[in-house]
Amino acid sequence: MSKAFASQADLADKKITFEQLSAHCWAYTAEGDPNSGVIIGDRFIMVSDATATPAMARDLIARIRTVSDKPIKYVLLTHYHAVRVLGASAYFAEGAQEIIASQGTLELIIERGKEDMQSEMERFPRLFRNAETVPGLTWPTLVIGGGNPVQGEVPGRLTVDLGGVQVQIWHPGPGHTRGDTIAWVAQEKVLFSGDLVEYEAGVYTGDAHLEEWPATLEALRALNAEAIVPGRGEAMKGSAQVNRALDYTKRWVETLYRCAREAAQANMDLRSAMAHTRKAMDPVFGHVFIYEHCLPFDVSRAYDEARGIKNPRIWTAERDKEMWASLQA
Ligand SMILES: [Zn+2]
Repeated sequence: MSKAFASQADLADKKITFEQLSAHCWAYTAEGDPNSGVIIGDRFIMVSDATATPAMARDLIARIRTVSDKPIKYVLLTHYHAVRVLGASAYFAEGAQEIIASQGTLELIIERGKEDMQSEMERFPRLFRNAETVPGLTWPTLVIGGGNPVQGEVPGRLTVDLGGVQVQIWHPGPGHTRGDTIAWVAQEKVLFSGDLVEYEAGVYTGDAHLEEWPATLEALRALNAEAIVPGRGEAMKGSAQVNRALDYTKRWVETLYRCAREAAQANMDLRSAMAHTRKAMDPVFGHVFIYEHCLPFDVSRAYDEARGIKNPRIWTAERDKEMWASLQA
């Protein structure tokens, strides 16, 4: 059996939904593709996750312009993955002045941004079909955490006033990567989680910290959000639905990591670990968007972590293909 690599066979366009969740918060979602969030204040707009390419970002910008003509001053990168950050340059023509990310995300862009860009462009040909519009890596201009507040550097939590609405941004703990940030609009109880939370879509864990992720999800649950824009999947409205998305993600992460620990304990090789994991994952998650894309990367990382590899190994286009071939052959 041979499956097309990653999302290379996923070429059909998705239906995009741009919907209002509260007085100032909007969700841009697309049937399991990477989502963006939009927070529209009286003076400025913030976009949470920039989309994969400037060409794609212009579609999001066009939708924003149907409801507001304010400058899009802030672009938040919830983490370093190329499908979320490489569209950022499109916002400069719309008034963008700050690209916000955590210290952990900045470090990951320095360490592996170039490799990740190449790797993701090959994994997602549909999202990167206008890759020629990408001018290069996206570098944050405002970095949260890791700085020295005494010297005027930004401490661990940033509050941005957009006029009539404030957005809090911080790193709630390791999970999907070690630098994920969230955006939280407390006055409307709307959470923009990035890939820390997904719903009815593959939970990509190729660069994750699986052991610590569930505790980070519980920190998000404690916010008691009334709506969430997950990284992938539809926006969820009402606390019951928010908890559903948190539970969905937690179940994926815990099932995957439990299987990997069992495989490591039994001294299985990676192929056997994959087969062992499928027995638990396929019946529950086999039907969701990008499941088959995610699973080989997820099992690889989970198996590494279960065997004591703390820092996720860097994926390159070459390592992607080698791993894929070894697990699908
Ligand atoms: Zn991601």
